[in-house]
Amino acid sequence: EAKRAGRDCARFFLRAMNQALDERLDIEAALRHALSNGLLQLHFQPKLRLSDRQLVGVEALLRWHDAQRGWVPPDRFIPVAEESGLINALDAWVLDQACAQLAAWRAQAVNVPGMSVNVSPQRFHQDDVAAHARALLARHGLAARDLTLEVTERLMLDDNSRPREQLQQLNEMGVGVSVDDFGTGYSSLSYLKRLPVTELKLDKSFVRDLAHDADDRALSSAVIGIGKALGLTVVAEGVETEGQRDILLQLGCEVAQGWLFGKPMGAEALVAWMTPTRR
Ligand code: C2E
Ligand code: MG
Ligand code: MG
Ligand code: MG
Repeated sequence: EAKRAGRDCARFFLRAMNQALDERLDIEAALRHALSNGLLQLHFQPKLRLSDRQLVGVEALLRWHDAQRGWVPPDRFIPVAEESGLINALDAWVLDQACAQLAAWRAQAVNVPGMSVNVSPQRFHQDDVAAHARALLARHGLAARDLTLEVTERLMLDDNSRPREQLQQLNEMGVGVSVDDFGTGYSSLSYLKRLPVTELKLDKSFVRDLAHDADDRALSSAVIGIGKALGLTVVAEGVETEGQRDILLQLGCEVAQGWLFGKPMGAEALVAWMTPTRR
């Protein structure tokens, strides 16, 4: 009886594992198809100066609408893309599209001051991101300071010299380097000394309970303090309420993103959002 139960249990897990694998393969194939058939798009979320709500830039966020699955959130497909290697092509496409969009806005005299783009750590190992950024800036007639690349602590902790050299090159060019989701990785903080970082993004998990949680206030205050001491811009993520905004201002945070100010939106919606009557 026990033996039989064990066997059923093993079968159950094998089946579950196979289903999970099948789903990954399905997503990978559908994503590959979406990339090569123009079914991906970018949304843009405003980054604002907290003191006066002045727009300081936007972050490009990948959006995928699949005929069968509907909207698939990046947290579901980015990990699959990273495991399959598709992330290189995906992130390269995003960087190109984001630069093209910024150039298009400039051509229409729409003053979007800067563009932030997420880049997976993988890409720094397999591609020359610095060379690609340099080529795109030239092609689209943009300045290096127009562009910021957002990377996670995963990359910062990496001892490999290839990513580090690219970060140095980006820095020498004048491209911004932002540490995304700061405080959620296994950071040692020493990379802030070694690497040419220009911005820290305070993860939204610290922002969420700011009004009620003294520990989150202490941690946020510490991150903002570190950033200021090192001359970095600190950007708070996930600001949803006036209460959170007020506390962040008190703590000395200068820039923020969040639904309170604007959700990620298509290029046209962003221009509408920017017109004074809408603010
Ligand atoms: P992230 O770079 O940390 O982006 C911030 C995420 O927070 C976005 O989720 C954004 O929509 C969401 N967000 C913004 N404001 C608020 C708010 O007030 N409240 C809450 N609850 N959430 C808010 P999204 O678009 O689902 O992206 C998730 C993650 O997927 C991103 O986190 C980033 O790590 C990754 N990602 C998105 N686009 C790309 C891309 O083009 N390349 C790579 N490599 N990763 C990407
Ligand atoms: Mg980001
Ligand atoms: Mg983040
Ligand atoms: Mg994130």
